Amino acid sequence: LKVRLHQVAHLSSETKDGRRIILRANLDLPEEIPFARDYGAEGIGLFRTEYLYVSRRELPYEELLFETYRRVVEDIAPHPVTIRTLDLGGDKFASVLDLPEEINPALGLRAIRLCLKEDHLFRTQLRAILRASAYGKVKIMFPLISGVAEFLRARNLVEEIKEELAREGLPFDPEVPVGAMIEVPSAVAVADLLAREADFFSIGTNDLIQYTLAIDRGNEEVAELYEPLHPAILRFIKTTVTAGHRAGIPVAMCGEMAGDLLYVPILVGLELDELSMNPQSLPEVKLFIRELEFKKCRELVEKVLNLTCQDEVKEAVSEVFGPHI
Ligand code: PEP
Ligand code: MG
Repeated sequence: LKVRLHQVAHLSSETKDGRRIILRANLDLPEEIPFARDYGAEGIGLFRTEYLYVSRRELPYEELLFETYRRVVEDIAPHPVTIRTLDLGGDKFASVLDLPEEINPALGLRAIRLCLKEDHLFRTQLRAILRASAYGKVKIMFPLISGVAEFLRARNLVEEIKEELAREGLPFDPEVPVGAMIEVPSAVAVADLLAREADFFSIGTNDLIQYTLAIDRGNEEVAELYEPLHPAILRFIKTTVTAGHRAGIPVAMCGEMAGDLLYVPILVGLELDELSMNPQSLPEVKLFIRELEFKKCRELVEKVLNLTCQDEVKEAVSEVFGPHI
C-alpha cells in the first residue's frame, strides 16, 4: 500500500486536458503532518489551531504557539501552510475561556468576532504565526469573515504586529499573504469588495452550508436537509470564485465538500484553484481528477447551476460520470 501511495503522491493533479488543481491537506493536529506528506499533499490548506486552546487548562503562551507553528512550517517545507486564526465558540467549545453561555452560539461570539473582542488572545496568536513565518511559507487566514470592515480590522492588526516584531528585531515574512474564509453568506454577497483586500479566499463549506440553508451542521434532526449540492450553494461558490479571479486572487475550498468524489467534477468545473481535505482522501481525489476533462466539468456546471434541487444535480452528475461516485 505504501508503495502505491508513493506512486500516486508523485503524480500531478491535473485533468486530461491540462487543468491543474492544487491538492492540500487539512490539519487538526501537527502529529498528522506525516500523513499529509505520505498522501502527497502540496502543503496544508487549513491548519485548525483550536486544539491548543480546547485541550488545556491554561491559555497557551506565545512561545508554545510559536514552537508549534514553526514545527509545522518546517515539517511541510518547501510547501506552504495556511494557518487559520482561532475559530473558537460555536461548535468549537473552549474550556479554557470563560465564554458566556449563549442561546444561539453559532450566531454568537465566535471565531474572528471573539478574536477582535478579546484582542490579547488574537495578538498573542498573530505574533506566534508571524514569527513562524520566518521559517517557511506561511499564509494567514481569518475564519467567519462577514464583511470588509471586519476583515480590514483583522488585517490591520497583522500590520501592527509586524511593526511590533520589527521594533523588537524578531524575524518574520513581511509578504505573508492574508486571506479570508468565505463561510458566511454576507461574505459571498460582498466577495467582489473583499477580493480587493484579501490575498486569497478559502471557502469553508461546512459553515457556508449551515448558514446559507439555516441547517445546524451538528443537528441530527435536520441532517438530511444539509445539502452541499443545493443550487444556492453551487451559485455561492461560483460567485466567490468569479469575484476572486476578477481580482486576481486564488480561490480554495477547505470544507468537507472538497474531499468527496461526488462533488469533485463540479468543483473542478467551478474553477476552484485548490482543494484542501483530509489527507486520506487525497489519493483518490487526485486519481479522479486525472480522469476528468475540464471542458466536460464546465459543461456540467453550466447545467447544474440552473437545476432546482440537490436530487436533480446528483442525477446530472451521475449521467456524466456514472452512478458509482
Ligand atoms: C468550514 O466551515 O468549512 C471549515 C473548513 O471550517 P470548520 O469546519 O473548522 O468550521
Ligand atoms: Mg468553519
